[in-house]
Amino acid sequence: MGGPEGTTPVKPGGGGAQAEAPAPPEGPKRHGCDGWPNAHQLACSALFLTLLACFYAVLLPVVRAGVGDAAWAGLLVVHSVLAALTVGLYLFCCYSDAADPAVWGAHDPGDERYGDFWCATCNVSVLESSKHCRQCRKCIQGFDHHCKWLDNCVGERNYVAFFSLLCCCTTLVTFQAACVVYVLVRYSTDGAAASGVATASGTGASDAHGGYIAGLSVLLFVGVVAVYFVGELLAFHLVLVYRGMTTLEYIFAMKEMEDLAAAEVEAGRPPPPEPGCCGPSSAVAPSDAARRPKKMVEINPCQALCVAPTPTAKLVHHGRLDKEQPSGSGLNSV
Ligand SMILES: [Zn+2]
Ligand SMILES: [Zn+2]
Repeated sequence: MGGPEGTTPVKPGGGGAQAEAPAPPEGPKRHGCDGWPNAHQLACSALFLTLLACFYAVLLPVVRAGVGDAAWAGLLVVHSVLAALTVGLYLFCCYSDAADPAVWGAHDPGDERYGDFWCATCNVSVLESSKHCRQCRKCIQGFDHHCKWLDNCVGERNYVAFFSLLCCCTTLVTFQAACVVYVLVRYSTDGAAASGVATASGTGASDAHGGYIAGLSVLLFVGVVAVYFVGELLAFHLVLVYRGMTTLEYIFAMKEMEDLAAAEVEAGRPPPPEPGCCGPSSAVAPSDAARRPKKMVEINPCQALCVAPTPTAKLVHHGRLDKEQPSGSGLNSV
């Protein structure tokens, strides 16, 4: 296992012949599709497939009537490539294993980066950047966050794929929404196009045609909501990449500022303003300022741009091993 000098890692099932330690109830997850899909995976897959079906079956024939065969073929190819990339990257991210190689005993025993930090849950020496994920039940190298939509962790080993997925998905849903806008605008401004829409969509009767347009409006609403959420996440990660931070470091920095603000309020002073222009200001009077309730840290690109990094240059998640002690539990708390 390449454990630290003077220690004897005990792998589940790998103990002595007579007195084996009881195996943990569940071993580490291999990836996000190790088991039944969760509700978030099912929901986003269903939404994605519905949008895809609507685009090909309902929207594209009408766009073809408006822009002609050549432009339609171009749109078809662009959309299909984007959709294929999105599906491929999503599956890659779901099936990727971002674990610290030491979790599987697959690291180089001579790698000098190992030997200083220890995960008591995985029972192995891990890299300094690794953090244990309770959902994945393993240490993740260069931990960024656990994504519930992938049911998998994003870390150093799959961050590029995750970021590419955000780029493709944002482009795809923007493309789809733009096509819906095109059809709706042409319908409302061009009488000839309107009849073309009715013909291409097979909704010549006024009632059916009205229903078709209403359906497009719903599609546009869903598309705009999707663009907003995926686009915001992409903007957030663009800022993180620009600032050289991980999602976890952003969360730590925001929590630290929250605690600082709570301490100021408790001391009877107004809290400092929250970073960025999108959060509540400091205009909370000390008189009515009970301790702020703990809240989830929200994904906010503006705050990510302005938040002060934590004083420690790196976040350390595991006990540091005391190499001076020859054996056993030479752990220093951090
Ligand atoms: Zn661990
Ligand atoms: Zn995880």
